[in-house]
Amino acid sequence: MTTRCAFAVAVVGVLACGATLQAQPSHSGPPYEVYMVRFAGFHSFPVSELVRGADTSRRTDLAFMVGVIKGNGRNVLLDAGFYREQFLTAWKPFDWQRPSAAIAKVGLKPEDITDIIISHIHWDHLDGADLFPKARIWIQKAEYDHYVGSNGEPLDNAIDTVDAHMLAQLHRAGRVQLVDGDAREVIPGITVYTGGRHTYASEYVGVQTAAGVVVLASDNMYMFENLAKHVPIGATYVPGDSTSNLQAQDRMRHIASSPRLIIPGHDPDVFVRFPTPGDGVAKIE
Ligand SMILES: [Zn+2]
Repeated sequence: MTTRCAFAVAVVGVLACGATLQAQPSHSGPPYEVYMVRFAGFHSFPVSELVRGADTSRRTDLAFMVGVIKGNGRNVLLDAGFYREQFLTAWKPFDWQRPSAAIAKVGLKPEDITDIIISHIHWDHLDGADLFPKARIWIQKAEYDHYVGSNGEPLDNAIDTVDAHMLAQLHRAGRVQLVDGDAREVIPGITVYTGGRHTYASEYVGVQTAAGVVVLASDNMYMFENLAKHVPIGATYVPGDSTSNLQAQDRMRHIASSPRLIIPGHDPDVFVRFPTPGDGVAKIE
C-alpha cells in the first residue's frame, strides 16, 4: 500500500547505551499476536475529558489496559500499567490487578516480558515498568529528557515524582533505550510513531499481525469515538491543540491495515469489539 509505505523511511536510531541501531521501518516484518489485557476499570469518567467538545454531562467507564505483543521470541508490552498504593488510593479503580499478574491471562509471567514500549510518562502507563525484571524499556528520548531530570527529579508535574525516579533508576541500570524520533522500527515488525502530542513526545505503535498492521494508539486516541467523529482527545500537551492530534489520527488510518484495527487507550468497548478470548483479554485480529 503506497500510503502506508510513505512512512517507511530508513532511519538510524541512537540508543541510550551509546550503541547505534540500524532500523528500517516497514510493515513487512514478522507477524505477531496482539492482545489488549485489562487490569483495572474506572467508573463514570467525564467523556469531555476524552473527546473534546463532548456534552459535559456524559460519563463513561474507562478501561486500564496493557498491550501484549507476542511473537518472534519476544513478549512486548505497550505500557506497563500501575501498581503503587498512592495511585490505587487516589483513583480507587475497580477490578484492579497488578499488570504483572494480569498478563497470566495470556500465559505470561513478569520475567517473560522482554520489552516494554512506554507510550508516554503518565502514571497509568509508566508506573508498572519496574514490575518486569528482564524487560528493556523503550521510550522517546524527547519524552524522557523533557520530564526526567539528571538526578531523576520530575521536570514537569505531568510525571509523578516516584515514577520519574523509578525510570531514572532503570536508565542508570542500563535498561532504558531512548528512541530517537518518529517512525522507528524498534523491534522487527514493531514501529513507533510520534506526533499525537498527548504529552511532549507521546508515541503509538504499529504492529505487523496476520490480520495486517494493528495500531495501538494509547492515549493519542482515548476512545473509538475520537476516530469515528474525527475529534481530538480532550487532553493535549498544548491545551486546545487539535491539529497535531487529528493529524496523528489521520496518519493512524494510513498505517493500520483497516480502521477497525486502530485500538484506543482507554475504551472499554475494545473488549466488546474483540470479544475473544474474553475475561478481560481481547485478541486484536
Ligand atoms: Zn492513560
